[in-house]
Amino acid sequence: MQNYHINTKCLQAGYTPKNGEPRVMPITQSTTFKFGDSESMANVFDLKGGGYFYTRVSNPTNDLVAAKIAVLEGGVAGVLTASGQAASLYSVLNIAPAGSHIVCSSAIYGGTYNLFNFTMRQMGLDFTFISPDAPPEELVAAFKPNTKAVFAETLSNPSLAVLDIEKFAEAAHKNGVPLIVDNTFPTPVNCRPFESGADIVIHSTSKYMDGHATSIGGAIVDSGNFDWAQNDKFPGLTQPDPSYHGLSYAESFGKGAYITKAVVHLMRDLGAIPAPQNSFLLNLGLETLFLRMPRHCENALALAEYLENHPKVSCVNYPGLKSNKYYGLAQKYMPNGACGVVSFGIKGGKEAAVRFMDNLKLAAIVTHVADCRTCVLHPASTTHRQLTDEQQTEAGVPGDMIRFSVGIEYIGDIIDDVEQALVNA
Ligand SMILES: *Cc1c(COP(=O)(O)O)cnc(C)c1O
Repeated sequence: MQNYHINTKCLQAGYTPKNGEPRVMPITQSTTFKFGDSESMANVFDLKGGGYFYTRVSNPTNDLVAAKIAVLEGGVAGVLTASGQAASLYSVLNIAPAGSHIVCSSAIYGGTYNLFNFTMRQMGLDFTFISPDAPPEELVAAFKPNTKAVFAETLSNPSLAVLDIEKFAEAAHKNGVPLIVDNTFPTPVNCRPFESGADIVIHSTSKYMDGHATSIGGAIVDSGNFDWAQNDKFPGLTQPDPSYHGLSYAESFGKGAYITKAVVHLMRDLGAIPAPQNSFLLNLGLETLFLRMPRHCENALALAEYLENHPKVSCVNYPGLKSNKYYGLAQKYMPNGACGVVSFGIKGGKEAAVRFMDNLKLAAIVTHVADCRTCVLHPASTTHRQLTDEQQTEAGVPGDMIRFSVGIEYIGDIIDDVEQALVNA
């Protein structure tokens, strides 16, 4: 499958039916799996030769979809999680116990910021947030002896900052730690971060991958490129695991070490596994991902260009616009398009922004983003309302900003809806 175009992989990677098997990937709706004798079951518990015993740890449907996403990203292994939040948590926790420090881009999803800056701090982890635009010297200065990873979004939600992946990867590798990137917005159709040096990719599959707003989910994929044994920073992967009768993941699983640990350790203990039904729906979304992404990008660019010339609009943020500060980085890392999300400010501040939203007829006000149907959100009063005004501005979401998630409807209808809403805002 590796040699096929990504378009073909979207349809056929992961599940390959043999003679007489269902054409469509089956849903294994079972919590548990039967064994003929105790010894065969014991072997599965010992991780000898694979196999399933309990869906909290792993399930065939989930694994097939994880394998498809791993192929799309060009990685060696993947695991699905019950949400994007769980993917963010597990991707870090898998290599960073209490007492660890993480260097993190300040341009990240509000939910990730809350998870890191509040919940994970309470768990004993430490974070330094740094602008994705920071010069390399400033980035390198953010590291501490106990730094275990660098975390960033390839295209940030909702501020649409494009990450200089090579700059971040270089700083991480100089300090002997992996670069973990959240690639939710571009998807592997528009950006494959492993090709630029990222080591781990995570996703909220609830967005474009599912595409139809049916299922919350997440994914973690390992490139297999990071050498965990190059220093003594990752004893959880290189030393014997007492909770798994003395097994060393790096020794026993090589390039599969990181994902194996995430499954048999974190999934076993914390259990954020997706329902196989949801993975089935996610797979249907993935089948058309390559068709949908270009349409999102084409529609978003047309809307962004229209907004840029509108007298009621104070600013437009879309990395596909030549005037955008990230245009160069977007051309480098996402030459076929970024995503369908456009953010913009309305003259008249927060009140005008709220009036604009209430005037919309086709675009729906929802918390969700990256859906095939156009939707819209006011981040300052919703997803980012926990942040102070200062933090909102730092995260790229000032009070007058609208996050407009352009769907794949006919673009003329979308622009007409925005036009009538702006005129009366
Ligand atoms: C939505 C989102 C998340 C969180 O994902 P859920 O599936 O909602 O838990 C993480 N990162 C990014 C970039 C997102 O857009």
